[in-house]
Amino acid sequence: MSWKTVIGLEVHSELNTKTKCFCGCKNEFGDKPNTNCCPVCTAMPGALPVLNRDAVERAILMGLAVGCKINNYSVFERKNYFYPDLAKAYQISQLEYPLCLGGGLEIEVDGVKKFIRLNRIHLEEDAGKLIHTSHGSLVDYNRGGVPLIEIVSEPDMNSAEEAVAYLEKLRSTLLYVGVSDCKMQEGSIRFDVNISVNREGEPLGTRTELKNLNSFKAVLRAIKYESARQIEELEAGRPIIQETRRWDDEKGKTYTMRTKEDSQDYRYFPDPDLIPLNVTDKYIESIRQKLPKLAPERKKEYISLGLTEQDATLLTNEREYADFFEAVLRELNEPKFVCNWITAEVFKKLNALEVDDRKITLNPALLAKMLKLYKDGEINQAGARKIFDIMWNDLTANPEKLVNELGLKQMNDTNELRAVLERIVNDNPKAVSELKAGNEKTMAFFVGQAMKATQGKANPKLVADIVRELIK
Ligand SMILES: [Zn+2]
Repeated sequence: MSWKTVIGLEVHSELNTKTKCFCGCKNEFGDKPNTNCCPVCTAMPGALPVLNRDAVERAILMGLAVGCKINNYSVFERKNYFYPDLAKAYQISQLEYPLCLGGGLEIEVDGVKKFIRLNRIHLEEDAGKLIHTSHGSLVDYNRGGVPLIEIVSEPDMNSAEEAVAYLEKLRSTLLYVGVSDCKMQEGSIRFDVNISVNREGEPLGTRTELKNLNSFKAVLRAIKYESARQIEELEAGRPIIQETRRWDDEKGKTYTMRTKEDSQDYRYFPDPDLIPLNVTDKYIESIRQKLPKLAPERKKEYISLGLTEQDATLLTNEREYADFFEAVLRELNEPKFVCNWITAEVFKKLNALEVDDRKITLNPALLAKMLKLYKDGEINQAGARKIFDIMWNDLTANPEKLVNELGLKQMNDTNELRAVLERIVNDNPKAVSELKAGNEKTMAFFVGQAMKATQGKANPKLVADIVRELIK
């Protein structure tokens, strides 16, 4: 019987609040080490935590966006362990009574849709960061106490591709809701993978956990490697040991880090410094009012504007793309035309970049101006692409000026074009008879000849009209 892989994911996502979760220190990536610290987040004796309301709101917003039940009563607990980046020797987290329960996300792999259930979303704080140098290890507590949500899925995924599709959907949702910047390179979103294998119909196998993966590619490769490793072990008659494993991206292998600890090893207990968190239904409803329009709703709108489902999906995959599309549309209300340019030309530029760097910095009003010139036949497609290339790198480039500077204005003068085409028609009697016989492909030949004769400036639509008129 064949093997089945079972995958569950834990995603840690830093919330983009102004200040930390339990003190007033700045929540900012990249500042000088140990400058955003205070007695609370460095665990000085007697310092007491105060919960950041904004962190609670953001966690609830995300919970509502993925259909969680928001618990009116939740409890902060201490997760006890020692590590140099954890000043208090415990992390404030939630275990028994998390803020959000249930919910889920729909993914699609190779045209097959699947619902991935969530177990919970809880609020906790991040640890500091160790910096290893040739002189020893240093610690930066700027990140210590930054609010995190941990989003825990049920083990509903059965392939590396499904796991990545889930992570992409989750990241996109976090960005839509606007509660995290999700920068993988800066570690503001990190993934832990739980993975086991079993034969169809048999109970679940022993799982291993792969910690702190920080790119989709690493997740994909690590799952493929680890599931193959487990199958190989079991087929050789060796049991799987419950443990935490480290993924080595360079070697493409996983290694034992430590045998897996259970939650009781952390001696969780309610934090006596923090009272249980009570959120009323009224408060939850007031947060629901702040939920922005999410992908499914926008997708429906775009389809009603005449876009295909596929195009609407492409545009709504990321909030940034959808926002940009709508901003261009406000200047040039041609949904299909604008969509075609974005999904072809803009996405081509974005796909050449790393995921974290895929930002559209173009000015939507200027792009609309360029597209209008193209739509009105002032420039042809080649000219539009040339101008777009310049605009992509020079954000203030004015498309109208560029048309003149680069001499890209299309030849729209019928008389001038007719003179050129009369000569071409006279010189090519064979092509003329082919076109007359109904071979429409021959038109491309005439357009090509006209472009050659006008240095690419002829308006192709006009060329076709005149050729038809001439051969009548
Ligand atoms: Zn602090």
